Order: sequence, then structure tokens, then C-alpha cells
Amino acid sequence: MSARTSSSTKQRAVISVRGVVQGVGFRPFVYRLATLHNLHGRVRNTSGNVAIEIEGRGADVHAFLDGLKTQAPPAAHIETVEVQFSAPRGFKDFRIQESQVQEGGYQPVSPDIATCPDCLREIFDPSDRRFHYPFTNCTNCGPRFTIIEDIPYDRPLTTMRDFKMCPDCEREYHDPLDRRFHAQPNACPVCGPQLELVDASGKKVEYPDVIEKAAQLLKEGRIVAVRGLGGFQLACDATNRVVVTLLRERKHRPAKPFAVMLSTVAGVRKHCVVSADEARLMESPEAPIVLVGWHRGKSDIVPEVAPGLNYLGIMLPYTPLHHLLLRRAGIPLVMTSGNLSEEPIAKDNDEALARLKGIADYFLLHNRGIYARYDDSVFMVEDGRPVAVRRARGYAPYPIMLPYQSKQILACGAELKNTFCLTRDNHAFLSQHIGDMENEETLEHFENTVELYRRLFRIEPQVIACDLHPEYLPDKYAANLAAEKNLPLVRVQHHHAHIASCLLENEVDGPVIGVAFDGAGYGTDGNIWGGEFLVADWRGFRRAGQLEYAPMPGGAAAIRKPYRMALGYLHFLANDVPVPTTLQIDPAESLILKRQIDRKINCPLTSSAGRLFDAVAAIAGVRREIDYEAQAAIELEMAAPANLDAARFRAYPYAIEEVSGVNTVRLGEIFRAVVNDVNHAVPVPDISARFHVTVAQMTVEMCEKIAVETGLRQVALSGGVFQNRLLLRLTTGQLRAAGFQVLTHHLVPCNDGGIALGQAVITQFTINDKRG
Ligand SMILES: [Zn+2]
Ligand SMILES: [Zn+2]
Repeated sequence: MSARTSSSTKQRAVISVRGVVQGVGFRPFVYRLATLHNLHGRVRNTSGNVAIEIEGRGADVHAFLDGLKTQAPPAAHIETVEVQFSAPRGFKDFRIQESQVQEGGYQPVSPDIATCPDCLREIFDPSDRRFHYPFTNCTNCGPRFTIIEDIPYDRPLTTMRDFKMCPDCEREYHDPLDRRFHAQPNACPVCGPQLELVDASGKKVEYPDVIEKAAQLLKEGRIVAVRGLGGFQLACDATNRVVVTLLRERKHRPAKPFAVMLSTVAGVRKHCVVSADEARLMESPEAPIVLVGWHRGKSDIVPEVAPGLNYLGIMLPYTPLHHLLLRRAGIPLVMTSGNLSEEPIAKDNDEALARLKGIADYFLLHNRGIYARYDDSVFMVEDGRPVAVRRARGYAPYPIMLPYQSKQILACGAELKNTFCLTRDNHAFLSQHIGDMENEETLEHFENTVELYRRLFRIEPQVIACDLHPEYLPDKYAANLAAEKNLPLVRVQHHHAHIASCLLENEVDGPVIGVAFDGAGYGTDGNIWGGEFLVADWRGFRRAGQLEYAPMPGGAAAIRKPYRMALGYLHFLANDVPVPTTLQIDPAESLILKRQIDRKINCPLTSSAGRLFDAVAAIAGVRREIDYEAQAAIELEMAAPANLDAARFRAYPYAIEEVSGVNTVRLGEIFRAVVNDVNHAVPVPDISARFHVTVAQMTVEMCEKIAVETGLRQVALSGGVFQNRLLLRLTTGQLRAAGFQVLTHHLVPCNDGGIALGQAVITQFTINDKRG
């Protein structure tokens, strides 16, 4: 049979498409594609997939199948397309059919998507019926995850149920050829959500165009709380020192950097160096905050926006409301989460008026309900690839794909930067950023979000996973839940979870040499780990190397006061070295701390790389006390020369010795040498450069030692310290030069935001082992 006759023979294909394929204009796309290729048949949504039947000439069927994968709408994420061929049934046309509910069916839910170019054109077109309408959206853009309460994703199960569509919107909604066909949040000025501007007492500000008024207030130096997609943001003029300082005072956030929103990439380039890759990420449908190099000299964004930093977190407008506000204001706006320091983001109008009272002068409210709190995501670009720092809006709840079929597991994550992870089939639903689990509000946010994910993805956990630490809130929650439901509880070591999360996203099952550098994690010996070299895979790990232990005088207080940590290292590891004046320690305090260290009173031991950076920062005179996590270490990184030439700087001396079977990096000589540099007035940038070079070099040397012992040539880098871009570049470069394959994070954060994924992976395989 020739190709010609086979291609003209009638064929029938039954197709199942899985992934994010509902609420993203997929069925209209299928309809158009089928019509284009003269095919007849049916398409329908079910709870688990989009089911398609097509009939026509063989060549046309194949052209359709190609187009299905290559021309899908921008917001769709196709995971699988399954096709079965059979004899035609004789359809006479192509139709979109009613949705069908399948028992137990589920599918990924789309994240919220930044305003698409078509909608943007409409809101700035005076002849369009959605001119200046701040809630414009279509199947290619707009809210999704933040408005959905349950599946199937239909309007009555979203917070849009209260808005009855007008005849024009209704017509778009039912027209398969319209961009708004089955766009559940579809709305217009006649029938959709509306804005309202109120002052701090909740009194309505009467003004014909409230966005114009809000822009005016911002230009006058007021702080405006703006109700966005996943909660409130606090906005103010980023070029006004007085108001930025005032916002810091009111929010109790003395120094942690604020993000800035600007209208366009061209506008961003007046303040920052933006590579093509960074611009592409900013302009993507996910539209995260991107950390980019700041031209401090050229930019009129005031230093108080990100004190002491060479990077700025920049995002572009991602809702019509943001676009309209930014255009009217015409200035860069600080855009930070609407909360009091470390509480969850406020999402409801009344809640915001109560919780943000005393912070915001005005509130730009709207009446479209927000079901899920959803912070802005933060990314950077390294090696030309996006790297997650905080994964939330635009990314969650889209799953991380697992290269295996998983049990239904709830992994409760870490205490700080918490996310949790629910698994099912080949999906790991890693939650959006929840926050630091140190208060009741955040715990409640955590519990509500776990419930939402369980409902949306029809997951009934069979196993609960958490950290080794007995006292942290997520671990207590996990233990209670496991006891209450009589489920197995798996406790996973923090740094093993870091390495497993890095392995998983690289689809490597190990064993590898895992370098986990971070602030703190509970170790199997009861000490606080954080500078670890593990031989690890998805099942287990062996601690092959570590940074030398040092005492943390006063425990957690040493984290907030790096000068104490510095004294800890000096007294414990380099006792003969006089304490440098840069530490500015009061002699009486110094005596007490030393006695505390000698007598081991409230001085837990730590191998933390984060504390090592803190201590060196303090001795170098960069920072004695911190206002936010890792501030001293970050400022030490910022102090290093731009475009550092590593070959110019000699590493500080250190030694690697075996201590009770574990290769241990001796740090005493580093401290002697740093103090010596300080005493000889070596400039801080040089000390910073030498120290970074040292940490990279000791990492490579340790990996080489472990490689000799094990034969392993793959190294996975994880832990929050690798948010240090200078360290990441130096370490990656030198490991590669030494012939190692280096695995790093991209999809999930290297910080504790990735821990839950690692816990879920390890739990899957340790449970299998125990039972198998
Ligand atoms: Zn759109
Ligand atoms: Zn309407």
C-alpha cells in the first residue's frame, strides 16, 4: 500500500491530553485545529483530561496531532498525549461537548498568569469596551489558582460565582472561536468586579477614576495598600527616601530589601543591567521578581529600597490593575507584600484594613474574592537559566514532575521559608511559599493551604514526612496528624532533603557527592549541621565531610549577632589570636561569652556554612548584628569586587583532616589569617574575595577527597548559602574544571523552600525499602 492511498484513507483517533489543559483555551484551540484540517469529531473536558475524537483523512489526522503539541495555547502545559487509532464512526461535524465528571479524576490547576498582549491592547484602546478595566482577562491570562475552590474548574466553584455575566460577556463565554470561550474569570466594566479607594479609617474616597487618584497619592509620597491577585501589596514611590523609610518603620522591616515594579524592560534598564535572559523572564507569563544588577550611580531609586545590596528585585506589571497604576504614576513603585514583617500576606478587604492599619495611608480595594494567598515569586538568572529563589505566583501549584509513580505523601517542609509537598502518581505538588512558621497566622495559612491542595488534587496522604527536629511547628503538625490518622511518620534529615530535592529536579537518583551549605538543620548527632558533604541518594546518606564544629554562644542569639558567632570561632578554634577591634565587643560581654563557651552553657555546636560567613563578615567589619536572615553574609558577598578574577586572590589556609571517620575542614587558620588581614588594614573587598575563593577551593578539595574514596564524579549543590551568586559561580566553575559534573537548582529553591520536595522523595524510597 502506497503512502498516498494510506494518507487518503479515513481514520479515527481517540486522544487523551493531560496536563494544564483546562481554563487555558484548549478546547477552542482543538476546535480551530480540527476545522483547519477538515476533521470531524468531538472534544470534551473530563475531571482527568481533555478527551478528543477526530475522524478524517490519515494525513489530516497526523497534521492535527502534530499541531496539538506544537501550536497549543501559551498557558497550556501538556504532560502527555495518548492516541489510539480505530475505524471511523462517521461524525458529521466537530463539536465541543459538555464537561464530564470522572470519579477520582484530577489534573493540575493552572497558576495565575500575567496579562497577555491581547488583553493589554484592549485596556489601552479607548474604543474597546474593556478600556481601562482593571479586571480584564481571557483564556490566555488572568487569575486561576487564586480564585479556585474546587475542581472541575467552572465558574460556580470560583470566587467569580457572585458576578453574573452581562449579555456581551455571556456571548464571548459561549463562542468557541472567542478568546474568552469558557474563560471562568471573564468580566467587563458592566458586570465584573470593581475597585474602591478608601482611607486608613475605611472611609470611601470619592473620585471618578480611583486608579488615577491612587497614582496621584503615590506621587505625593503616600503609602497605598493595593489588593492584587493573591493578596495585598504595599506600594510607594521608590525614588522618595522619606516614604521608603516611613514604610520600613511602619512595617517593622528595617533593612530587608523591597521589590520594585516598573512599567517596561526599557524603563528597568535606566536603573539596572538587564540581560536578554533576564528580560525574557521578567516578560514571561509567570512574570516573577527577577534579581538584577543595580546601577547605583545612574538610578534614582533610593538606596533605602535595598540597603547595602548591588541587586534589585524587579518585576513588571502582571495584572491590568498594575499596568494602569504604573502608567498613571509614571514612577518606579516599591511593591512589597501587604503584611507586618513575617506574617502572611493579607488577602481580604476587612483583614487588610485591620492588619495594615497604621502601615498604609490608603487602600485600593476590589470585590473579587481571593481564595488562596499567593506571594510574588523571586528568581535570578545564572548560566543563562532561571533559578528559583521563592516559588509562588506563576509557578505553584503546577507540579514538579516525578520520574516515578509516587505514593500519596504529605511532606511538611522546613520551619523557615516553608512550603509543603503533596505527591500523587508522577506529580509533586510543591506548594507556593507559605512563610516562616513562627506564628499562629502562618500555621493557619499552612493548614488551610494543605486542605486546598488535598481537595484540588484529590490526595489522601498515606504517609506523613517531616524534619528530624522535634520542636518546629511543621514537625509538631506532622506528628499530630500522623497520630490522629494512624499514619506512618517519616523523619528526614534537613540536609539530606536539600540534596534529594536537587537530585530530583535534575532527574538523577544518585549516589552523588552532595554539598549542603546553609544556616541550620538538625543533625543525626544532635548538633546543628549546615556545612555538610554527604554521599547521598534518594534513599539515604552518609556524612562524608563537614565543616569543623564551633559553638553558638547563646544559641539562636548568635544568629542575630554575628559578632558573637565570630567570638565563638575565635575563642574555640584560634584562642591565641587577640579579638579584633572590628567586633566592638564590650570587655564584660566578651568575658561572659568566653566563660559560656568554656563551660558549654547554652552553646550548641554548629558546622553551619551560614554562620561561618556571618562570623567572617563580622570580623571584616561588614556587619555585627543583623536585621534579616543572612544579612551579614549577603553584605559580605556584596563587598567583593565586581567581576572578581579568582586567580588574583590567594585562598586563606585551612586543612582537611579525618576526625572520627569524617573528613573535617579545620577553620582555625582561616580565622587567624582573616584577623591578620584586618589588622593590616587589607581592604574589605579583598578579604571578601579571598574568603569566597577559600570556600570554593575547600569545597572542591573535599569533593576530590570523597571522589577518591567513592569514585563519584557528580556533585549536587544545595542549601540557602548557594543563593550567594559569587560562591555559586566560583564553586561551579572550579568543580567543572576539576572534571566534576555539577547539579544545581533551577525549578525549586536551593533554600528551605525546596526541603518539602526532598522529604517527599526520600519518604517514597525509604518506605519502599522498609516494606520491600
Ligand atoms: Zn488575556
Ligand atoms: Zn460583562
